Amino acid sequence: MFNIETHDFTSHKFLRLCEAISSNYPTVTIAEYMENKQPDSFILMRHDIDRMPERALVTARIEKELGIRSTYYFRTTKNIFKSKIIYQIKDMGHDIGYHYETLSEANGDSEKALDLFRSNLERLREICEVKTICMHGKPLSKYDNRELWKNYDFRNFGITGEAYLSVRDDLNYFSDTGRTWSYKNSIRDCIPGRTERVFAETTDDLIELIERRKLNNFYILTHPERWPSSAIGWGSYYSTDIAVNFGKKILMKYREKNNNIRTISKNNLSITVDIEDWYHIPSVCGSSFSIYKNVSEFFEKWNDRYDYLSEPTKKTLDLLDEFNITATFFVVADIAEHYPGLIESISAKGHEIACHGADHTCVLDTKTKEPLIGVEEFEKTTLKAKKVLERISGQEVVGYRAPNGAVTGWMLDSLEKIGFKYDSSVSVNSLYNKSDSSLKAVSSFPYYPAPGSLEPACGKRNFIEFPWAYYDMGIKIPTYGGPTLRFLGSHLTSKGLKQSLNRGHTIFYFHPIDISQEDFPSIGNRRPLYWIIKGKIVEEKLRYVFKGLETITKVPLRIQVDNYWEV
Ligand SMILES: [Zn+2]
Ligand SMILES: [Zn+2]
Repeated sequence: MFNIETHDFTSHKFLRLCEAISSNYPTVTIAEYMENKQPDSFILMRHDIDRMPERALVTARIEKELGIRSTYYFRTTKNIFKSKIIYQIKDMGHDIGYHYETLSEANGDSEKALDLFRSNLERLREICEVKTICMHGKPLSKYDNRELWKNYDFRNFGITGEAYLSVRDDLNYFSDTGRTWSYKNSIRDCIPGRTERVFAETTDDLIELIERRKLNNFYILTHPERWPSSAIGWGSYYSTDIAVNFGKKILMKYREKNNNIRTISKNNLSITVDIEDWYHIPSVCGSSFSIYKNVSEFFEKWNDRYDYLSEPTKKTLDLLDEFNITATFFVVADIAEHYPGLIESISAKGHEIACHGADHTCVLDTKTKEPLIGVEEFEKTTLKAKKVLERISGQEVVGYRAPNGAVTGWMLDSLEKIGFKYDSSVSVNSLYNKSDSSLKAVSSFPYYPAPGSLEPACGKRNFIEFPWAYYDMGIKIPTYGGPTLRFLGSHLTSKGLKQSLNRGHTIFYFHPIDISQEDFPSIGNRRPLYWIIKGKIVEEKLRYVFKGLETITKVPLRIQVDNYWEV
């Protein structure tokens, strides 16, 4: 059952944050700050309305009740530019600004971008006064909208300041991008010139910093759509809880936790787990050289025990708990049928469920690079797999990983078409290439693939590829789980992950069957070396890798994708 009290980034938590703010600091709008009207200590509250403008009404109302004045930046795109909502928020005493993105809309043409800027600003000014602006950024776009002001001056439009460019670097900046207050996750969302800052990870950390009153300012950015009202309807919650709290003097807590201020600088990491059993490997099922054509044939003919997966999956969940990791699980959909309760238990732990094919059949012959199934069949079976996983887990499934990592450009087009938002199958290294592309322009960090291709696109796309980590030492060594971790070891894997993290966000993966301590059935043309190292020794290797990465924020891929959509 969802417990609203214990979850971060809910409207309930937003209320707690606002209570801390209003009892400890005065608030000023961004425009007042730009005009130097702020007291010695203060809090700036900024909200970027990237989508779901209705949600801004909720945060605006909470703030109003608690005497907080903040600034709401609205995009002027359809569905977001809702004059009635903008009016209402203005009416509550908040300030309105323009969340511009015209340089990326104009594809880098700065004259066109300026014209768009002018006309959008006019539209917004028909509703209310607009004194300040703030860029809207998509991290994978090649255009940084702030660049518009290299050649032009926003003051010519009667604008007093830009929310990133015109703030002094003595502000302590906190952004909810990535559902953590650290800004490791964001490529664009930072104040130029700032390198070190105080840091809070959870909203409770931030509340504590506010209640301690050690800092003389806070510059807090939230995206109201990321603070849902969750289990109980807002209406009933709002009327009871606000009534209890409003007007009541909130006791200030001074919990002395010395370790609350840290500095940060690193990119984040996604831990991914492939859920498949021993018979899903290509030599047993689903490839041109396997004993059984596919999993259905395996189940028709195999009369012995098959489940060697449940036990190491439980061990995997414990290991992730031990390191406090929320992971992405790429699950072969036929697991749903043969392992009752397994997917549910992964999902119940809060991990993301993603798709690893219907039955782990390879889509591509990795030697000849010829497709093994047609586009239509791929789309049909994969969509069916997606639906099965969604029904069992109760989650929307938006991620895909190709069975055996055998991936092509057309597969990504199909995945986008049937509702996936990302793929994570591409592996750049010098030992093997299971795709049909050269991967020359691909590295270990996410990119928008060009249509019909695995190579990066010039423009944006509503689909992202998350390639795997590698260690570049002249030759590129793959550094993730599976055979590489089993044979190459934890030290090299750890080094490769750290090197990849210096390049940007990256992913790590492993299989529960890598840490199974049991002997698998010895059948047919099983490659003899394949399972020679597994079990406890691999579990210790994983532990070593996770220990070395303890300070790195780990986010499931679904969350990382959300960060790329809107900042
Ligand atoms: Zn934005
Ligand atoms: Zn697999």
